Amino acid sequence: MSGNGKKGTILVIGGGISGMTAAIEASEAGCDVVLVEKNPYLGGRVAQMNQYFPKLCPPSCGLEINYRRIRTSPKIRCMTLAEVEKIAGKPGAYQVVIRQNPRRVTGKCTACGACVDVCPVERPDAYNCGMSTTKAVYLPFEMAHPVQFVIDGDACKGTECGKCVEACPYGAIELEQQPQTVELEVQAVIWATGWDPPDAAKIEGLGFGQYPNVVTNLMMERLASPNGPTGGKIQRPSDEKAIESVAFVQCAGSRDENYLKHCSGVCCMASLKQTRYIREQYPDAEVYVFYIDLRTPGRLEDFLAESQKDEKLQLIKGKVAKITETDGGDLVVEAEDTLLGERISQQVNLVVLATGLVPAEAAVRIESGGNLQRDEHGFITNDQPQGGLLGAGCAKRPVEVSSCVRDATGAALKALQSCVEHADG
Ligand SMILES: Cc1cc2nc3c(=O)[nH]c(=O)nc-3n(C[C@H](O)[C@H](O)[C@H](O)COP(=O)(O)OP(=O)(O)OC[C@H]3O[C@@H](n4cnc5c(N)ncnc54)[C@H](O)[C@@H]3O)c2cc1C
Repeated sequence: MSGNGKKGTILVIGGGISGMTAAIEASEAGCDVVLVEKNPYLGGRVAQMNQYFPKLCPPSCGLEINYRRIRTSPKIRCMTLAEVEKIAGKPGAYQVVIRQNPRRVTGKCTACGACVDVCPVERPDAYNCGMSTTKAVYLPFEMAHPVQFVIDGDACKGTECGKCVEACPYGAIELEQQPQTVELEVQAVIWATGWDPPDAAKIEGLGFGQYPNVVTNLMMERLASPNGPTGGKIQRPSDEKAIESVAFVQCAGSRDENYLKHCSGVCCMASLKQTRYIREQYPDAEVYVFYIDLRTPGRLEDFLAESQKDEKLQLIKGKVAKITETDGGDLVVEAEDTLLGERISQQVNLVVLATGLVPAEAAVRIESGGNLQRDEHGFITNDQPQGGLLGAGCAKRPVEVSSCVRDATGAALKALQSCVEHADG
């Protein structure tokens, strides 16, 4: 702590579960926190889940309490639609430049939706992995924090249209808002920029982008979600047919020299969870999980053991080599069953690729003051000796939510220490 008793300011980049946790923990220990999120809402990838393992509760369970703590904290300044452009300085004294992108909808918005009714532009909805559209003015999803509409500046026709401005009863729309630059001095920086799904179309032979009934695991989360593109009904994308059989393909592109060398750690559990989504809607569906080995460490073994009681679930040890499509839109999955030592070929209605996690890219210019290093896979390795620039959660390695929460709490402590060590010069 500095001589004047001030504990300093910590910048947290990324408002997913890791960034929110780090911000809350640091603020409750007395620091001021600036939380910068590039999306129009907080929550990160967890906000896209249907349920999360191991308890299978909806994401709102964990997120709501964090939203409340952030909303009511006088010590957290939360900036959505914002990205850090530049960091200069050194541990204890970083100068940061943040670009605040325009929301074009002000705090007067009551989320009544009158603007949506008149907006003539449709755009792909990234929240639903492009499986549905929204208008150019939209609410990211009903539980979004903040609950405030936003206008996609790339899609919107601007003042030449202006229908939303006329329709808004509260005068909340400002189409001419421009990006702003915010400059700050902070003592430590936590990078909680999380993960992105890799481009599944690049994986040869598995048919993503070629066959409509091959989806990714993140798409499956959206298909199963009550607020997803099908209202939670899991069905074949090509013809909305009910599911009689489904194959989950583990390590799709992962642990593979040609694509992602690393294991993404959470995909086995994610697929086992998703087999429960199928079972809930289709008690008689045949479910196949093709895996290299099932990684369900620690108490997650219980989840696997419970899944194994499902008599219509087959866990097949074998890496999938090829997927082809039949005339009727089914898929034929070819693999070698390494336990039986035989080649198998299984026809199914739907294939879910467990495509793994890659670290999100951040186009931040770091001019000095630290040494934010990345490992060979692009995950952040902490700048431990200097302690000023710290990674947290999936920005550091692919892990599940509970590990992110622990890791982010540790990062907050480390950032606090850095503030203390570098106080008074
Ligand atoms: C299919 C699937 C299912 C899963 N299911 C579960 C589950 O059931 N249970 C479980 O425990 N885990 C699950 N996981 C893992 C879970 O998604 C992660 O543990 C969690 O998302 C990590 O949170 P995070 O905050 O580290 O990263 P993220 O959730 O990725 O959040 C990072 C945030 O940073 C923001 N950001 C990125 N770059 C910038 C930037 N430059 N500037 C500002 N903001 C930025 C992003 O917009 C995002 O909001 C699953 C993963 C997959 C792939």
